[in-house]
Amino acid sequence: MARTVLVTGGNRGIGLAIAQAFAKQGDRVAVTHRGSEVPADLFGVRCDITDSAQVDEAFSAVEAELGPVEVLVANAGITDDTLLMRMSEEQFTRVLDTNLTGAFRVAKRATGKMLRARWGRMIFISSVVGLYGGPGQVNYAASKAGLVGVARSITREMGSRNITANVVAPGFIETDMTSVLSEERQAEIRKAIPAGRMATADEVAGVVTWLAGDTAGYISGAVIPVDGGLGMGH
Ligand code: NDP
Repeated sequence: MARTVLVTGGNRGIGLAIAQAFAKQGDRVAVTHRGSEVPADLFGVRCDITDSAQVDEAFSAVEAELGPVEVLVANAGITDDTLLMRMSEEQFTRVLDTNLTGAFRVAKRATGKMLRARWGRMIFISSVVGLYGGPGQVNYAASKAGLVGVARSITREMGSRNITANVVAPGFIETDMTSVLSEERQAEIRKAIPAGRMATADEVAGVVTWLAGDTAGYISGAVIPVDGGLGMGH
């Protein structure tokens, strides 16, 4: 059954791979972007997730074009790495505002229609770093760990209405976000990963589409790693 799917930050990287995987299986897919081009088979809506009014307008545009959002993928995210001693409060709150409060804004906006439909899937793209920690990533790790509390609380609030909320925790994926890391750091990371390599964005997308499907209807409040074994024992 085709569903209406919204992927935040679906114009590039992991979000784009997720959006394209849903489109490939015949779903109606919208992506948020902040001005860049969006592939023709996806419906693009401009939205900065740090602005509630833009989130509301983006949802209204998707509802008018494709119908109520049934599957929400909160994917948009940023890093701003530096050691705690040097991290400004602004660097901390800006990352939290995008990665955690941004996810809250879109989940809250999606909720009314999902409750009315008595069906919904929310998938939060976290990171292995959320539970593993990362040097220079106090802001990012806090934001990504926070998503676990969000998904688990939604599960307790809305689990009886056929609404699931899960967290996908990717390890290191080949995208713009990781390409900024030095060669040296990338080699270090590969050494620590049991799989010995980074993943492609498609390897994350496959897990997200599966979680949104009917066969995964009894999975909620889970943290699903896609990390080549890096975070084992979380
Ligand atoms: P990219 O940097 O390639 O893309 C980030 C996406 O988020 C872009 O679409 C960007 O939009 C969007 N975005 C950022 N800030 C905002 C905002 N304020 N409002 C709306 N959209 C915004 O990242 P990845 O594809 O690598 O990462 C996607 C998600 O996966 C992130 O949440 C990231 O934390 C997580 N992740 C990534 C890993 C990796 O190794 N790459 C590992 C683990 C998790 P725009 O194009 O307009 O900038």
